[in-house]
Amino acid sequence: MPDSIQAAPTGRAKCRGCGKAIAKGELRFGESGPNSYGEGEATTWFHLACSALMRPEKLGPVLESTADELPERDWLAECVRVGNEHPRLPRLVRAERASSGRAHCRSCRELIEKGGWRFALQTFEEGRPSPIGTIHAECAEAYFGTADLLERARRLTPELNDADAADLGQALAEQRPGLAKTQGVDEDEETKLGSGSV
Ligand SMILES: [Zn+2]
Ligand SMILES: [Zn+2]
Repeated sequence: MPDSIQAAPTGRAKCRGCGKAIAKGELRFGESGPNSYGEGEATTWFHLACSALMRPEKLGPVLESTADELPERDWLAECVRVGNEHPRLPRLVRAERASSGRAHCRSCRELIEKGGWRFALQTFEEGRPSPIGTIHAECAEAYFGTADLLERARRLTPELNDADAADLGQALAEQRPGLAKTQGVDEDEETKLGSGSV
């Protein structure tokens, strides 16, 4: 079965991206792939918006080939474009405040302090989402290649209020040069400054 966009015939299917139910009649994206529970192919369903945010390389071709009028078509196409341009960006699941100070950032490897803003990440293996940890909001540029993702984060995290979003925007405005560090650029600079070995 080819990938497709269709209205959900029932309200029973859950979105593989966000884990929430897809309401009856709501548009959904069906992605086919190997059946991880048995033989043959299986279809994995997503809210249309979640597929644009989390499966851009899959939704893109279907979006281009369908002439149907879709709500938010321009927004969907823009999400696909940005997601394909920054291949790690679709890993973003939601923004949250760190509930403990024990998790390490996947980008800079440092601890994320309790209450600090972080992004939860997941990847898909054979259609199934798998959590892969979190990064500092301040490490977005280093990890995703862009920190211009406040709107995306709000969309993925509907429970954020305006004050939360302002706070998160602040964190996003203070990016850390994590990627440069892992590539050794900062290390060279530190050596020059005489603080190379720790
Ligand atoms: Zn969803
Ligand atoms: Zn970090």
